[in-house]
Amino acid sequence: MDAGAKNRVKLWLRSERALGLGASVTAPSSFAPDAAVQAIAIAEQIAPAQHHVSAEKTEPSALFPAISAPSEMAPRGGLVPPPSVEPFTAPSLSTDEKRRRLIALDNNEVRGCTRCRLCETRTQTVFGEGDADAPIFFIGEGPGENEDLKGRPFVGRAGELLDKMIAGMGLKREQVYIANIVKCRPPGNRVPMPDEVATCTPYLERQIEIIRPKVIVTLGLPALKYMMNDPKLTMGRSRGNWREWRGIKLMPTFHPAYVLRQYTDETRAAVWSDLKQVLVELGMPIPTRGRTGSA
Ligand code: SF4
Repeated sequence: MDAGAKNRVKLWLRSERALGLGASVTAPSSFAPDAAVQAIAIAEQIAPAQHHVSAEKTEPSALFPAISAPSEMAPRGGLVPPPSVEPFTAPSLSTDEKRRRLIALDNNEVRGCTRCRLCETRTQTVFGEGDADAPIFFIGEGPGENEDLKGRPFVGRAGELLDKMIAGMGLKREQVYIANIVKCRPPGNRVPMPDEVATCTPYLERQIEIIRPKVIVTLGLPALKYMMNDPKLTMGRSRGNWREWRGIKLMPTFHPAYVLRQYTDETRAAVWSDLKQVLVELGMPIPTRGRTGSA
């Protein structure tokens, strides 16, 4: 293996670990040739997917002249660019305009998107859904099997629990907005790779910019790490503590799938505590019987 190939593999593995999302490839402690060959083989699979990006697809929507187009966020050499950090400054849109822009973004760009390799294995894209004027924007990791089949976010068992969490807050699913950091299902429900996240998340940012929620709730660690651009975060230290993303308050809490796996009073009480903080922040009443998973 020549030195150039070794450097490309090292760079790719480093990017895998940069966001802590690289569950699919374990970086070797030393740069063993076998591991490098395997990594190159996987990295080589990435290249053809990036070739799907066409000039037609990379044109930013005329509706969003001020926002970076996904093509500008596309990974170079597998590295993940830092997300935008500036608060949104443009005036809020009318409800009708928000709806129009969300539909246009989905129909014109996301549905036919082939910007990363996840397009090759998805059944359909999962754009997100909810109230265009939602005060709360829930962000998960990526579509699972049920979501991939139905084209809607959080419709499996984890989705049922999320519905209960929302109901526990005294709200209906239609009153919030729900989306994921990637719009296509990663094969086998693996964690999205950093380059997939980097390629897809401009769509999410544009959804948030259109809706301009008062509070973002991240569900699980991958969504939190991406939004905070911090690979070292842990749920244990993060959940329940307010953060901020582009001027919007952000509350990290557990992913409903984790709650289902750890279905204890302690876990459910922790989530309920996080959601209560969201209600307080929004000045909404706290239902006396609200409790994750029992609502
Ligand atoms: S995951 Fe996102 S960037 Fe990749 S193909 Fe799907 S919509 Fe496009």
